[in-house]
Amino acid sequence: MLKVKFKFFLVVILVLIILIIDKSVAISHIDEFPLLGKVIFIDAGHGGRDPGVVYGNVYEKDINLEISKLLEEKLSLKGATVFLTRDSDIDHSSIYDAHKKRGDLYRRIKMIDDNYLKVDIYLSIHINWYKDSYYKGAEVLYYDGNKFNKVLASSIQESLKINTSTNREITTTNLYMYKYINTPGVLIECGFLSNYQERKLLQDKAYQEILANSITYGVIEYFNNI
Ligand SMILES: [Zn+2]
Repeated sequence: MLKVKFKFFLVVILVLIILIIDKSVAISHIDEFPLLGKVIFIDAGHGGRDPGVVYGNVYEKDINLEISKLLEEKLSLKGATVFLTRDSDIDHSSIYDAHKKRGDLYRRIKMIDDNYLKVDIYLSIHINWYKDSYYKGAEVLYYDGNKFNKVLASSIQESLKINTSTNREITTTNLYMYKYINTPGVLIECGFLSNYQERKLLQDKAYQEILANSITYGVIEYFNNI
């Protein structure tokens, strides 16, 4: 009788151990892949016939694409499903568009708002320019049209402040594209091409990695907060 009881006790202990191990595996899984199940659209600004801001032979569209591809990699490693509005030097205007730029932006909106994909957030990657070359620092802009955009903007801006030298604050935008996207998201101006130091940094792979990681941390923080 005692033997049977002991065996039963042993089985209970074993089941408990298995349950605990299983649970800790599940928890570490969440830690490792905090963006599992999230669908994120990266919009690499400009492209093709539209170079964005230009300084000599440095084109905004190229830097946007480089940062976007790094960001795709970082977000995917954290478990997210990631799409890009472009992964090469193209734009989405059509020969039939009366206004090429508008046509390009319109098609980007349609991609991001695709009902089938069920996109959680979009991140539009751009580079800033200002006539006064003193201005520098990454800055996140959002359209004040839903309760999520500002939260996402704040999360990413805070992460950029911690990981880069920016002291800029979030600000609102009313630009055409962001106004008409239903999916929550933000415009990230990664720095100023008009500033000498930042122009060098933005072309540097190591700095682009820092930007991509900062944005990824901000995105994880956002999903933790909402
Ligand atoms: Zn731009």
